[in-house]
Amino acid sequence: MDFTLPPDLIQVRDTVERLMIDVAQPAAKAAEREARFPREAIARLGAEGVFGTAFPEAVGGSAQGFQSVGLISETVSRLEPGFGYCMNLQGMTCPLTILNWGTDAQIRRFVPDLIAGRKIGMFALTEPGGGSDPAGNMKTTAKKRGDRYVLNGSKMFITFSDECDTGVLFAKTDPAAGHRGVTAFVVEPKSGPGYRADPVAMSGLSRAFRSCAVFLDDFEVPEENRLGPEGEGFRIAMTALEYGRLTVSARLLGLAQACLDAASGYARDRIIRGQPIGRTQSVQHLAADMTVNVEAARLLVRRLGWTMDRGGPAGREAAQAKYFASVAARHAAGAAAEIFGGYALADEYPIRKFMGYIDMLNMGEGAPAVQRTLIAEDTLGYKDANRHVPKRLSR
Ligand SMILES: Cc1cc2nc3c(=O)[nH]c(=O)nc-3n(C[C@H](O)[C@H](O)[C@H](O)COP(=O)(O)OP(=O)(O)OC[C@H]3O[C@@H](n4cnc5c(N)ncnc54)[C@H](O)[C@@H]3O)c2cc1C
Repeated sequence: MDFTLPPDLIQVRDTVERLMIDVAQPAAKAAEREARFPREAIARLGAEGVFGTAFPEAVGGSAQGFQSVGLISETVSRLEPGFGYCMNLQGMTCPLTILNWGTDAQIRRFVPDLIAGRKIGMFALTEPGGGSDPAGNMKTTAKKRGDRYVLNGSKMFITFSDECDTGVLFAKTDPAAGHRGVTAFVVEPKSGPGYRADPVAMSGLSRAFRSCAVFLDDFEVPEENRLGPEGEGFRIAMTALEYGRLTVSARLLGLAQACLDAASGYARDRIIRGQPIGRTQSVQHLAADMTVNVEAARLLVRRLGWTMDRGGPAGREAAQAKYFASVAARHAAGAAAEIFGGYALADEYPIRKFMGYIDMLNMGEGAPAVQRTLIAEDTLGYKDANRHVPKRLSR
């Protein structure tokens, strides 16, 4: 057993670190100031291969696997968390779902542009009725009319939906059939009327990378954009969320590490009663707990990427990594806030920003309660968390 990072992954991490500092950080600062989506920076990162490491070379990827996706997501989120959204929408849930379930024509048409950052993606599953039971609460319908589907309904909290060129969206083709009535579509919001995305005001989150309420009013999708057969949408969504849990848990890990780095620096510099607060036992205990949580989360995230690279089912590993990365990140944010004292609230320090992203990722790709149910049912033998044979890099 070898716990060290191999040289090729070290090189990937170092390259991404440089891109974050040279490209993403200045772009995020400008984008935030102007509340403007940083399309050019996303295209630059895409051109450098940041989003394509899980994809075969035939579609423009570098076929470096899921360990690499985890490490890149962690690095991006540690250094510029807003760009972390791209790891899901340009590099995972949107394009990978098309790669795994699409026809050859759909893959050729949509995947290369998404992972190159030339087109902006989205993954539209959650509805206002509740994200924890997406199929049960799904009210959006898709009615077949000739060679098109007509979509009506609404989605909630859909990230990048106001900028999206090519997204994956779920709707019910058979509302009476429960989760067996859900169908997946590749949608192109700019292709015609009937699509509207209104940003949701969110405290503590970015003004540039927005999540929106989406309204579909007789929005037409050609039949050739249906992803997989009618009724397969729930299975497609659940597989996509499993992949998404890799990027989301790695992003939480990156943020936990960022809290630890910032708090360690502050603890060494802040002098109270003639000594750095890092010399006090209470601050040392906070730092020790943060460190152990971060390292434990890192091992779970690496194990998840490793399991996915071996091609096996990874539902168990995904739920455990997502749940514990959330625990570690929320603890790290709380501990960092304590170490920073009143300055945790000051805009010149990053703690509030980290907290906002951690709270968002805590819910994204399944709330903690949902992960705990998956883990407990597996442990108690009620439901095997790895019962689904995944579709993985099938081409
Ligand atoms: C900023 C942001 C961006 C997002 N981006 C996207 C996106 O791009 N695409 C997308 O599809 N979704 C997106 N989401 C939605 C996200 O996935 C949901 O917020 C999440 O799934 C939880 O759904 P909900 O917010 O409706 O909470 P609810 O489902 O209403 O849950 C509320 C609480 O009840 C608990 N709960 C619910 N059911 C149970 C149960 N059976 N047992 C125990 N506890 C339960 C939950 O754990 C949670 O704590 C985003 C959310 C945010 C905040």
